[in-house]
Amino acid sequence: MASITRQAPNMTSDELDWRQKSFCKDWDFKKKGDPWHPASESEIAARPGKNLCWSCPAREACLADALAHNEKHGIRGGFTATERSRYRK
Ligand code: SF4
Repeated sequence: MASITRQAPNMTSDELDWRQKSFCKDWDFKKKGDPWHPASESEIAARPGKNLCWSCPAREACLADALAHNEKHGIRGGFTATERSRYRK
């Protein structure tokens, strides 16, 4: 999930704050791959990314951000895009 580490220039300080605490901020995507964007949303494929998220100190803020921005891709806050869509209904 490379996009989580990129910071848009118009971010507020609160947004920057939780991203600074995120577990994936310093993830070596080149060496370790991208567990936050698995090939499918099956439980087996998504489990590594979900497990990383559930140990992330920024998990709740990340999930709130993904829901607020209707993020349609990847695992955020420990949930796949399909799982997050259920929260919005
Ligand atoms: S909850 Fe997951 S996607 Fe969100 S910042 Fe943490 S590790 Fe990254």
